[in-house]
Amino acid sequence: MAEIGNNIAVAKQLLEQGALVAIPTETVYGLAGNALNESTVLEIFKVKNRPQFDPLIVHVASLESAKELVDDFPEKAKKLALQFWPGPLTLLLKKKSYIPDLATSGLDTVAIRCPDHELTLSLLQQLAFPLAAPSANPFGYISPTRPEHVNEQLGEKIKYILDGGECTVGIESTIVGFENDLPVVYRLGGLSIEKIESVVGNVRVQLNTSSNPKAPGQLKSHYAPKKKMRLGNLTELIRDYGTGRVGVLTFKTHLSQISDRNQIALSSKGNMEEAAQKLFASLRTLDKLDIHIILAEEVPDMGLGKAINDRLRRAAAD
Ligand code: AMP
Ligand code: MG
Repeated sequence: MAEIGNNIAVAKQLLEQGALVAIPTETVYGLAGNALNESTVLEIFKVKNRPQFDPLIVHVASLESAKELVDDFPEKAKKLALQFWPGPLTLLLKKKSYIPDLATSGLDTVAIRCPDHELTLSLLQQLAFPLAAPSANPFGYISPTRPEHVNEQLGEKIKYILDGGECTVGIESTIVGFENDLPVVYRLGGLSIEKIESVVGNVRVQLNTSSNPKAPGQLKSHYAPKKKMRLGNLTELIRDYGTGRVGVLTFKTHLSQISDRNQIALSSKGNMEEAAQKLFASLRTLDKLDIHIILAEEVPDMGLGKAINDRLRRAAAD
């Protein structure tokens, strides 16, 4: 198992040696390594069992460090970064050639983000290089929002997990690129479309659901538990699957016909931020129960609810 601790110096030393360290962010835990070291980047793909066509997000401490990685920082991108960094926003920008092609899966853009987490920001400030970091889970499985989640699955493959507590946003970053200067959202995430539009006006949302080299975080099946999962109207689903060996994920209601330990409400108050924060940990908890299927319902399709529903659909996809 990996060591779990909050010693930045230990993380820094390992990263400087080219090793991987799991790092906390406000979205999910990341599996981090020197983004400019090709063999380290290759190791990230291997440890996660991630296909090399799925590009990584590069993490930086500031807008200034981000500018060093790209040829051009369009005006709208700058506006968004100034408003939302550090925060759950990833920008796709034309990359400088010294960033290994492997990190961007051969694309000429690089995904960059400044994470909103004190420990990781401090670590990034002390490093002479940016950190490539996809979510710290085996490819395709539920993303980790606590150090123990990382240890359960990747503990044998890495030495150190920097413990920054539970992730506060709990859902991956929103990915925004630019086509002819127009913002395009390729992945829904922890920053709502409404907030983005309040800064740059209307955006186009282009979410593909097949394997698409432009944004494979959009694979149809992703963020998925090992148990079978069905998404829909819970009353109908329970009629079909019964009340016995099922796990149930609701938005805010408690279902009297299901035992307490077999159901989780994402937010009994109906708070969308709380629901996002609890989503992945709740799926993990349900996945470990002695059940044969997870039944879930969508949340209201507004604000972060759009991103939550996106994750639920992919988690339930075959
Ligand atoms: P993860 O780090 O696991 O949250 O996944 C990162 C995701 O960012 C990928 O799956 C892609 O969807 C997206 N991404 C990263 N780099 C690029 C890029 N250059 N162009 C388009 N999408 C990207
Ligand atoms: Mg991921």
